[in-house]
Amino acid sequence: MPLFLDIQHLSEAATDDALEHMYKAHSHDPGDGAWMPHESILIRRLIELFSKRGLDRLAAVQADIQAWTLGHKHKPSAAPVAAPGMLQRWSADERELARIYLEALPPAQWTLDDHMLSVDLVVQTYLPAEEMVAESQWMSTRASMMGKVQANLAKPPISAVADLILAALPSTAAAAIQQFNISPIEQAVLQFSRVRCAENVRALTDDVRHRMRSTVLQHLEQQLAGEAGSSLQTKLLDQFGTLNRDWRRIAVTEAGEAQTMGLTASLPIGSKLKRIEQYAGACAFCKKIDGVIATVVDPTASDKDGETQIWVGKTNIGRSASPRKRVGDVLVPRGPDEMWWLPAGLAHPHCRGRWIVVGAPPTAGKDQEFAAWLTSTISQ
Ligand SMILES: [Zn+2]
Repeated sequence: MPLFLDIQHLSEAATDDALEHMYKAHSHDPGDGAWMPHESILIRRLIELFSKRGLDRLAAVQADIQAWTLGHKHKPSAAPVAAPGMLQRWSADERELARIYLEALPPAQWTLDDHMLSVDLVVQTYLPAEEMVAESQWMSTRASMMGKVQANLAKPPISAVADLILAALPSTAAAAIQQFNISPIEQAVLQFSRVRCAENVRALTDDVRHRMRSTVLQHLEQQLAGEAGSSLQTKLLDQFGTLNRDWRRIAVTEAGEAQTMGLTASLPIGSKLKRIEQYAGACAFCKKIDGVIATVVDPTASDKDGETQIWVGKTNIGRSASPRKRVGDVLVPRGPDEMWWLPAGLAHPHCRGRWIVVGAPPTAGKDQEFAAWLTSTISQ
């Protein structure tokens, strides 16, 4: 049965937003495919490790929020403990003070502020800002360097070899730049990947805090009103279902983007790549670019051809998935310069597109130092 949506009364901008969301809905929700191992051997293990470490942290947050909110962490104490002040980032000592205060406070005496403090304590304990920055850089650097690895190997490694390389790669962009011969454009990719991944992880951490504070508040208000509602456990399960998925999206998307951009930056101008978009749930756009051969060109070159060429920094950000936009009361086709195009990195979040080099990579063996490092790493 056809479904008609009447968006006639919306403004031009609201119509375009609605169209954009409808088209993106086809590409941003990978269904259960999000949890499938990644098709690229180069970043498969990295994505699983980063996912597991993040999910472990989120599971600890979930368990602790439940325990604090239900009063399970109370430890009777003879002496009253002073409430710590509110802080943005806590030191280990300040965390310890907050923990002792909350443990000593009998559950019946908890105010809403104490509950909010317990959420902040849990988030600061399991998702501390400095560790999350290090975690995101660990991932983005290795994924980006896996682009250089692909550009320097005659053919993709088997997974055991990819694991050896992954384990030997540096964990920070600064260390990578110091250790290897990294061109300015490769350095730029390392830095963009580092900052973008850290931004996404920070946004997710903020979201955890906000969602947990809201969830606990909602739970307490329902208790006050004498409403049964769903149990706290059910509410947390719902929230963490979403948060786990958001973490997985960062793993898949940031690793894929850093690796494909890293490869593009590491190959000489004129190299040919073949796009591979073969995975469950690939969207219509990605299916269309599967198998396309692209030539790597200099980002500063004039007359670049968006259909057959890729370059570092060529993304779909700011472009539209929808083929039409609203002008006045009618829908008109968008121009090619407004639409998604063949990106050097991923087409959109959750995209699992990758490149294979056509023929042997022209860089294979050229960077003697890197080649020697690869050889010695692989032969361990
Ligand atoms: Zn897609």
